[in-house]
Amino acid sequence: MEALRKIDIKYVKGIGPKRAELLTKQLDIHTAYDLVHHFPTSYLDRSTFYSIRDLTADMPTIQVCGRFVSLNVLGEGARMRLVGLFSDGSATMEVVWFQSIKTIRKNIILGEQYVLFGKPGMFNGRPQLVHPEVDTLKTAATRQGMRGVYPLTETLRNRGIGTRQLQEWISNVLSSRPKFSENLPPSVLEQYRLMGADDAIRQLHHPTSPDLLKKARERMKFEELFMIQVDMLRRARRRKMATDGFRFTRVGNFFNNFYNTCLPFPLTNAQKRVIKEIRANCNTGHQMNRLVQGDVGSGKTLVALMAMLLALDNGFQACLMAPTEILATQHYETLSKMAAAAGVNVRLLTGSTRKRDRESIHAGLADGSLHILVGTHAVLEDPVKFQNLGLVVIDEQHRFGVAQRARLWAKNSIPPHVLVMTATPIPRTLAMTVYGDLDVSVIDELPPGRKPVTTLLRYDNAREQVYRGIGRQLAEGRQVYIVYPLIEENEKLDLRSLTEGYEDICEIFNNYRVAFVHGKLKPEEKDHQMNLFASGKAQILVATTVIEVGVNVPNATTMVIENAERFGLSQLHQLRGRVGRGAAQSYCILMSKVKLAKETRERLELMTQTTDGFRIAEADMKFRGPGDIEGTMQSGMPFNLHVANLATDGQIIALARTAAEALLDADPELQHPANVPFRIALESAVSRTADWSQIS
Ligand code: ADP
Ligand code: MG
Repeated sequence: MEALRKIDIKYVKGIGPKRAELLTKQLDIHTAYDLVHHFPTSYLDRSTFYSIRDLTADMPTIQVCGRFVSLNVLGEGARMRLVGLFSDGSATMEVVWFQSIKTIRKNIILGEQYVLFGKPGMFNGRPQLVHPEVDTLKTAATRQGMRGVYPLTETLRNRGIGTRQLQEWISNVLSSRPKFSENLPPSVLEQYRLMGADDAIRQLHHPTSPDLLKKARERMKFEELFMIQVDMLRRARRRKMATDGFRFTRVGNFFNNFYNTCLPFPLTNAQKRVIKEIRANCNTGHQMNRLVQGDVGSGKTLVALMAMLLALDNGFQACLMAPTEILATQHYETLSKMAAAAGVNVRLLTGSTRKRDRESIHAGLADGSLHILVGTHAVLEDPVKFQNLGLVVIDEQHRFGVAQRARLWAKNSIPPHVLVMTATPIPRTLAMTVYGDLDVSVIDELPPGRKPVTTLLRYDNAREQVYRGIGRQLAEGRQVYIVYPLIEENEKLDLRSLTEGYEDICEIFNNYRVAFVHGKLKPEEKDHQMNLFASGKAQILVATTVIEVGVNVPNATTMVIENAERFGLSQLHQLRGRVGRGAAQSYCILMSKVKLAKETRERLELMTQTTDGFRIAEADMKFRGPGDIEGTMQSGMPFNLHVANLATDGQIIALARTAAEALLDADPELQHPANVPFRIALESAVSRTADWSQIS
């Protein structure tokens, strides 16, 4: 296999320097190795014949077998076309060509049997094929079975490089090699019953059966994902060993006093488990880098507080960062209320903290009398010096850049432990990849007594009913959110619908106060409006998604989301998390103006069926791909995936992770002779992409 990496594609039979350059530019194919690893992304099944009678326009590429009963050139000039009537006994259909009319006309013999291969369409209520491939029975026989469709570009097609051409070159390489050597460690190959490298590569290009093809694809996916997992784990382990961390050896008065006398409610089992995981992690002598994933409302703040108390008990200070001023303020209020009785000194530092307060905060941090600092990223920018920062908690991490995380660490010679809290429920298997170097804790249980939010999908024609429902909630003294899509692509239009919506609401509910928040407001105005709602002075809040993260107003029981179809599921889930925070039954109403496409409707209907954030995140990934997460990930991936798909191959990721852990446990540096070929393959795969070790 290694030798192939050294063969420039221009030396592959049939390619030559010109086309080699094209392949490199268009498909990033440099060597013979790359070429045989350029796999089809899908396969056409030429093992089945369809009846013309059964054809529908939503079918993929199909083949039919029959005879032409007529063949006529119609129209003139640019509109000239060749139209055939083709019958297989079940029905007759039209076959049309707009190009190469003469040649095709000449080659087809009326009454002979042919096999046509193409994607059916409908024309005047009858099935139709445009530009199908036409084979005689004899040539068709050689093309039966599965046929790969290779990823190609328009430019390549225009230069006459298509699937057949590519397949020929690949075949040239394949036939020049007796056998491809194996990359994967034999132990892994055996334990996971994977197809060997040689078989897999050949099957992927020339499948002999759907079953074997499936096994081949699985093997290649596994290989890619396994390499990624081994690479990530190896780096994470090395770093862990290399970075000293503070030891939190004891549980003392802060923690115990709080636990015994201040805790407003019993912890959920999930909260207890995660706190235990954090405790153990902070006592290893190495730095903790832990992600706590917990659905909205699962009680992450409390877990953060207990972890910080642990730091205090060991003589350290702690810091909690939130992405917005509103959130930081809320955290500050919650924490100081909860922890005051335990004798904890908490302060808030944001961009708008006054100079005098700032100075006393600095002093308190420097002399150690200030225990917990809550803040926004101002904490990073400020000339803040802790006496001994032992733990940093970062809430809602997806709003924080990786670079900012790094900056915090620079404040100490031994880096503080880092706890990242996120409510974005990334499916576990994806987290393994995205946060490959973080340990993950999951709070998978909501506090008892929560009533799940009732979610309804309503169209514009039901708007009056929806307003009546809002009216009833308001009459009971409840508060209501009305959310509009974030102002973006069509800024003017969005702003208009938001402002109009606001005006409508003010008019309809004219004996209530309506607050109004969107991203274009000045920060002070935004805070002012938010506070009107948070304090209960305003009963209705009309807003864009700025309220998505963290805001906590338990008296708000209803949320109406306008143009719900424009939101991703995970985002809807985050928004919905703003209601259902108190004891009362809450409602989330997804409004939609338009008649929805089937898939969109199904997407929204899922929201009405479940409140399980992980299920929603998984569905979201399937509908839309990993999206944002993928963005984060691209920067974190040691190399690009060709066969595996992070959104849909969760099961294989989990296997690959387990296998990677076992391999590194047994052979941390991959020095065992049986593992050396794998190490070499891994290192050459990784070295092709830029250094990514800077992440986190
Ligand atoms: P999130 O995980 O979304 O940040 P919070 O920490 O804001 O959730 O908690 C949501 C609400 O649940 C808060 O009002 C909090 O006081 C409450 N809560 C947290 N833990 C428990 C518990 N164990 N039992 C009851 N209520 C809890
Ligand atoms: Mg929170």
